[in-house]
Amino acid sequence: MTTENKTILRLAKVQDAHLKDKSVIVRVDYNVPMKDGVIKDDTRIRETLKTVKYLLDANCKVVLMAHLGRPKGKVDPKYTLAPVAPHLEKLAGVKVHFASDCVGGEAGKAVKAAKNGEIVLLENLRYHPEEEKNDDGFAKGLAAHGEFFVQEAFGALHRAHSSTAAIAKFLPGAIGFLVQKELEYLDKAMVNPVRPFVAIIGGAKVSDKINVLYSLIDKVDTIIIGGGMAYTFLAAQHTNIGKSLLEAEKVEEAGKIIMKAFKKNVEMLLPADHIAVKEIKPDAAKEVTQSMAIGDDWIGVDIGPRTEMLFMDKIKGAKTIFWNGPVGIFETPAFASGSIAVAKAMAAATKGGATTILGGGDTLSVLKVAGVKTDQISHCSTGGGASLEFIEGKLLPGLVALSQK
Ligand code: AMP
Repeated sequence: MTTENKTILRLAKVQDAHLKDKSVIVRVDYNVPMKDGVIKDDTRIRETLKTVKYLLDANCKVVLMAHLGRPKGKVDPKYTLAPVAPHLEKLAGVKVHFASDCVGGEAGKAVKAAKNGEIVLLENLRYHPEEEKNDDGFAKGLAAHGEFFVQEAFGALHRAHSSTAAIAKFLPGAIGFLVQKELEYLDKAMVNPVRPFVAIIGGAKVSDKINVLYSLIDKVDTIIIGGGMAYTFLAAQHTNIGKSLLEAEKVEEAGKIIMKAFKKNVEMLLPADHIAVKEIKPDAAKEVTQSMAIGDDWIGVDIGPRTEMLFMDKIKGAKTIFWNGPVGIFETPAFASGSIAVAKAMAAATKGGATTILGGGDTLSVLKVAGVKTDQISHCSTGGGASLEFIEGKLLPGLVALSQK
């Protein structure tokens, strides 16, 4: 959030509230990758433990609410949060009661059955269509489970939903330690970054990232564009991109972004060469292009070796780095080299004293593929969308709702 936003929002912190022996309802982001009831990555759960343990130490009854996936307002066992309860019990070391609904009689019974110093995990909020409508009645039903509300779902702050926004009308509230940490890092980068400040923006779609690109140009010294979205920018410069991903209706916008960077004296780096294939399949024959242009029948799937060097060099010289989005189709090992190189360069820069921030589920997955640990990066944001909207300078509804007048 920009300086302006920071001065608009006055947010209470969980550690400043008097919560001893109270029932506290906490909105967490437990939208974790899960397959057949097995949690594939529990980072988001671990990241909430500081707040959960803080409340347990204050002898609170901790009621947790979250969403998982997109069940579209209906009960769908595919999206149950039930597997999270035993996992959390192991991590927190206290009893976790699971409520088969988040509002109404069943939820009320589970909350009542829990003692202070224990946790209740409520079933998926999005089983109810009211949640995403920011419905007051539904929010009131959630608020009935506690005397105080803690906002800890950084990844859901950009959504105005009952559990993130409307609930604050019915309970006093504060932000938890994770939200505080996220805001602190993003604020540090956006308000007063140590320079040079380099942003690397990749991923598939330009349309998702137009606003953040405009905002970043006002802040950074260098902007690096890679991944599928880079081809729309190359097309805007009349470079041949063959059959690579193109958002034809965004070419003009990409041209405007290039011109804004030019006028603001911000360096913009686009891929100078590519790994190209004729078909996107793991064992496809690959070619390295001679220049930034791609032949008619070819598809760009990763940055080429010269671009890797160019990007590495910029990252190495930076003091603040923000990264969102892979620079190639990293899910296919043969096309992951560029993204791995960026991840490794981020880790090296962190070691050298730079502040490094990354956000987005795909970007975190690249770290895993690259064998880079999250503690080798200054800050891995738990919310891709929320961190982008924050950088755009938007007021996040989940914070606005808690802002003290
Ligand atoms: P996003 O959700 O917009 O951050 O996009 C992430 C996706 O971008 C990943 O699934 C990547 O496989 C994809 N991606 C990266 N580079 C390319 C490329 N050259 N062509 C097509 N998709 C790409």
